[in-house]
Amino acid sequence: LKVRLFLLISALLITGCGTSDIFIHDTDAGIKHIKANIEFLASDELEGRGSATRGEKVASLFIASELQKYGVKPFGDNGTYFQNFDVKLQSYSDESTIAFVSSGEETELKIWEDFLLYSGSDPDGTLKNSELEIVFAGYGITAEEYGYDDYKNIDVTGKAVLVLSGEPYSDEETFFAGSRLTRYSRSSSKISTAVSNGAAAVIVIPDPYLAGRWEAYKSYFLTPKFIYPADKNLETRTSIPYMVLTIDAAKIMLIDENKNYADLSEYFSIETPPSSFDIEKKVKINIKSFEQIESIRNVVGVIEGTDPGLKNQYVSLGAHYDHEGIKNGEIYYGADDNASGTSAILEAARTLSLSNDNKRSVVFIFHAAEEKGLIGASHFTNSSEIINDIVVNINLDMIGQGNVDTLLVIGSDRLAPSCTK
Ligand SMILES: [Zn+2]
Repeated sequence: LKVRLFLLISALLITGCGTSDIFIHDTDAGIKHIKANIEFLASDELEGRGSATRGEKVASLFIASELQKYGVKPFGDNGTYFQNFDVKLQSYSDESTIAFVSSGEETELKIWEDFLLYSGSDPDGTLKNSELEIVFAGYGITAEEYGYDDYKNIDVTGKAVLVLSGEPYSDEETFFAGSRLTRYSRSSSKISTAVSNGAAAVIVIPDPYLAGRWEAYKSYFLTPKFIYPADKNLETRTSIPYMVLTIDAAKIMLIDENKNYADLSEYFSIETPPSSFDIEKKVKINIKSFEQIESIRNVVGVIEGTDPGLKNQYVSLGAHYDHEGIKNGEIYYGADDNASGTSAILEAARTLSLSNDNKRSVVFIFHAAEEKGLIGASHFTNSSEIINDIVVNINLDMIGQGNVDTLLVIGSDRLAPSCTK
C-alpha cells in the first residue's frame, strides 16, 4: 500500500499538483517487480552491499541494467549511468597509543582498550614527537544563543583540550533545549570548535551513557572511516585527533590534578557550568593511520519531460542502494534499508518510462555510501549540473516495514501549499 501511495504521490508531483491526469498502474506487476528486485539486492551474493565492496558494485551494475531495460536514459559521467567519485578510507593501527607524561614518567594507553579514536591523523609525526600541554575546557562548547562559552579566557593554541562528553546539564527548555541533546553535544561540533580555537587534539571524558555503550562505539570506530575529500567541513571535522577515554583511563589521567574524575563527573548532573583549569600532565599522541582511495559510484538515469516549457525542470526520485555489508563475519542484508526504497524507485522508473507522459524531466538517483555519512548524496549535490533545476526531490528509505497505511515524511513543511492539500 505504501508503494502504491508513493506512486500516487510521485504521479501527482510529476504531472503537477491539482491535475486529474494520473496514469493507471498495474499493481500486481509492480509488486512482482519490487519483490524480485528486493530479493536480488538482499541476496547472499550481494553481501549486504557495503560501501566500496564488490556487493555494492554489483548492485550498481544491476540498477544500471534495469534502467537500461526500461528505456531510462543514462545521466551519469560520459554517457553512462554511473557518477563516479573517490572516497578516502581511513583506519588506525592497533599500535596507536597515547601517553600521559608526569615528572618524566609515562603512562601509556592503548587504542580500543583505553581510548577510542574517532578521527585525526599525524602524517608528519608532529604529534608523536611533541608533548602537548592539556587544558580542561568544560564541554568544549561555544554556543552564543545560550550565552555559553567554554573557551572564554583560555588559550588552547597548540594544546590538547580535555572536555566532557555531551553538553551542559539543563532542565530548562531555554538552555540547551532542556533534556534533549542539541547539535553542540556532537563530536563533529566539538572538533570544529576546537580547531577554530587552534587546539591540536581533543580528549574526552565519557558520561555514563557513552561509557556504557563502549563496545558498540568501538565496533563502529574499528571499521574504516569514509572521508569524502570534496567535503571541506568534513576535512575540518577529521583534521585533529578526537579521543574518548574509558572511565578508568580518565581516572588515571586525573590523578594528582586540580580536580579528579569524581569532581568532573558531577557536572553531568548539576547545572553549575564547569570552569577551566590546566592539567599538569602532558600528552604524547602516537597515531598510526592508513589511508586508501576507493572509487565508488551513484547510479543516475533520466526520463526527459514531454513539455518543452517544463522539461528543463526536474523531479528527482532517489534512494540509497548501499547497506552495511559484512560485520564480524555476518551479512547485514538491508532488505528494508534500503533494498526496499531502491526497488520502489526502480519500479517508479519502469512505470514512468512505460507511460512516458511526464511534463517535467524525472531524474532517478541511486546513492552510494549513504551509510557512511550521506556521501553519495553529498557528491550528487556538489557536482550535478541540474541541481538548481530540481523542483522537488523524493527520497525513499526503509519503506518495507511498519504500518502499511502510514508514511513518515521528512521535509513536508517545504512542499508548495498547493501540494499539501
Ligand atoms: Zn537507509
